[in-house]
Amino acid sequence: MKIIDKINQKLKEGQTFFSFEFFPPRTEEGVENLFERLDRMVTHAPIFCDITWGAGGSTADVTLDIATRMQNQVCVETMMHLTCTNMQVEKLESALKEVKKVGVQNILALRGDPPKGQEKFEAIEGGFSCALDLVKYIRKEFGVYFGICVAGYPEAHPDGIVDDPDQMNKNYWADIAYLKQKVDAGGELIITQLFYDVDLFVKFVADCRSVGITVPILPGIMPIMTYGGFKRMVGFCKTKVPADIMETVEANKDNDEAIKNFGIELGVKMCRQLLEAGTPGVHMYTLNLEKSAVAILERLGLVDTARVPKPLPWRHVPSGTAR
Ligand code: FAD
Repeated sequence: MKIIDKINQKLKEGQTFFSFEFFPPRTEEGVENLFERLDRMVTHAPIFCDITWGAGGSTADVTLDIATRMQNQVCVETMMHLTCTNMQVEKLESALKEVKKVGVQNILALRGDPPKGQEKFEAIEGGFSCALDLVKYIRKEFGVYFGICVAGYPEAHPDGIVDDPDQMNKNYWADIAYLKQKVDAGGELIITQLFYDVDLFVKFVADCRSVGITVPILPGIMPIMTYGGFKRMVGFCKTKVPADIMETVEANKDNDEAIKNFGIELGVKMCRQLLEAGTPGVHMYTLNLEKSAVAILERLGLVDTARVPKPLPWRHVPSGTAR
């Protein structure tokens, strides 16, 4: 089923929803651990789960395998990310055909980052240069089979984040105009880059609405779990971190437990503000971990860990086992 249809149903019923994002682990053991965790996490009834496409297509086979198992064994509505980096059109076509064959009906269509060692994104020969090309291609070649989601950037895409405020403003609005093109070409849902300043997200949604983008916009929430991981991520994405948040993180940099607890507290506070501002649901970047994401949702009253059923023992079927 298309995620957008599930979301529209929730919107009609006035129900808040959430989703979980995972990335493909590097080892087979990691994949099996992920599935054990997924089996537990889906008992909380996320509206969908998604699996990322490794940078530059580095994990294509694992992503495809995980997407297949998520949809058919874990039985959760699944969205697979797909990027254009290092992918000729034939490779994109074959990945899309493969997931279509196994019943995955949702794609997050992305450009991807430039390959390692390359600063600017450049289309490879026979490949696409941006997410818009991919959205158009999916609609042209696969009609309305796939539900298409696209990425949005409340602080502008990192390539457009510059010191000059006038230029920054221009880049921000150019990004929004381009996002509108992605939506007009077939994007039915937007998931945003992580952020830690809720006001920026609220402004971004209002700005998107002002140019006629009407599709749901889900905030990407990345709970702070470790000092190093947080610093790496906000550095890479050029995320603005409000001073009080940065101060607390820095003050607790050597206390893992305190960082994790602060991450949960902050996640709860941000999600509450977002829901109060009218956001219909939240998208949790789980980083393949369970505790922080579930603790945030539990404190928001969106899950009740005391009441969920235990995962069924037969549901976990290792890779390669016939269904
Ligand atoms: P695009 O939408 O193509 O845009 C990138 C930038 O280029 C924007 O600034 C845009 O305005 C500009 N641009 C591009 N084309 C045009 C045009 N024709 N006219 C005007 N401006 C243009 N990366 C992965 O490798 N794997 C993943 O699974 C993954 N998942 C992600 C999920 C989310 C929710 C987000 C927000 C990001 C994810 N990324 C992932 C990172 C993403 O690949 C990078 O941010 C990448 O640099 C841009 O991808 P995009 O799809 O946003 O690109």
